[in-house]
Amino acid sequence: MFDLTGKAAIVTGAGSGIGAAIAQRFKAAGALVLGADIADVGALVESWGCQFRQTDVSIPEEMAALCQAAVDRFGKLDILVNNAGVASAAPLADADPARSERFWRVHTLGVQSGIKEAGARMKPGSAIVNISSITAVRGFVTWGEYAATKAGIISLTQTAAVEYGPAGIRVNCVAPGIIETPMAMAEAPDMVARNAAVFTQLGRIGRPEELAAAVHFMASDDASYITGQTLLVDGGWSTGPSIKGIELALSTSG
Ligand code: NAP
Repeated sequence: MFDLTGKAAIVTGAGSGIGAAIAQRFKAAGALVLGADIADVGALVESWGCQFRQTDVSIPEEMAALCQAAVDRFGKLDILVNNAGVASAAPLADADPARSERFWRVHTLGVQSGIKEAGARMKPGSAIVNISSITAVRGFVTWGEYAATKAGIISLTQTAAVEYGPAGIRVNCVAPGIIETPMAMAEAPDMVARNAAVFTQLGRIGRPEELAAAVHFMASDDASYITGQTLLVDGGWSTGPSIKGIELALSTSG
């Protein structure tokens, strides 16, 4: 089940967190994996038996070179996971055009370039999985600039599913809630864990491996009739207020 034997896959942002979990899981499932990251983390990625190419996904020419490198090294490209991302929070009142543009370049333009360059090289039966965020589908204080570009990824997923469906290429999206990675834990890790405990239905933060499992399914032939969809992997946060959250609100409301 979810066998990836012989499939040639690219995972961006493979040097850390969710991308690292996806690359290792794909490798264990039999895929030929080309990991990419903005920093030179080749030694780490290669230690899992994957290949590596340093790539800045926000530069379209580098995404083109990455997709071509997979074809040159593996003879084909079957799977692309557009996972690389950056994060920082600020209220919209303090929105900064340079920071907003960086989010757009890494997330929206990066995913758009990935779809374009991979789509041009993929054969029928291939799959693209884009990583969005729960912030794309709910309002979250201080996450406006980031969230807008993550919502763009859901939109790109839907358009790409329409445009590449006739070529037999599926395009889906996975939207994480709070996952325990360097990105999520960079600031105030105690508060992050507490938020996850209170706001998710499962009462805890997610693990990168739990994200990788969902991406694995979406990338595999077992998802052969699924395209254009966004799967929220968020411990049920997006479903509605948790019992714990309601109890906390009631206990502090006077
Ligand atoms: P992470 O641990 O910071 O990993 C992200 C990786 O992407 C890092 O290695 C990062 O390198 C790399 N990267 C950043 N900019 C890049 C660029 N321009 N080109 C290539 N690589 C680049 O974060 P993560 O939590 O695993 O995040 C993975 C994805 O999940 C991101 O798209 C993120 O937005 C999304 N997500 C995460 C969470 C969460 O709670 N963790 C929630 C929702 C969505 P540097 O470290 O050098 O910047």
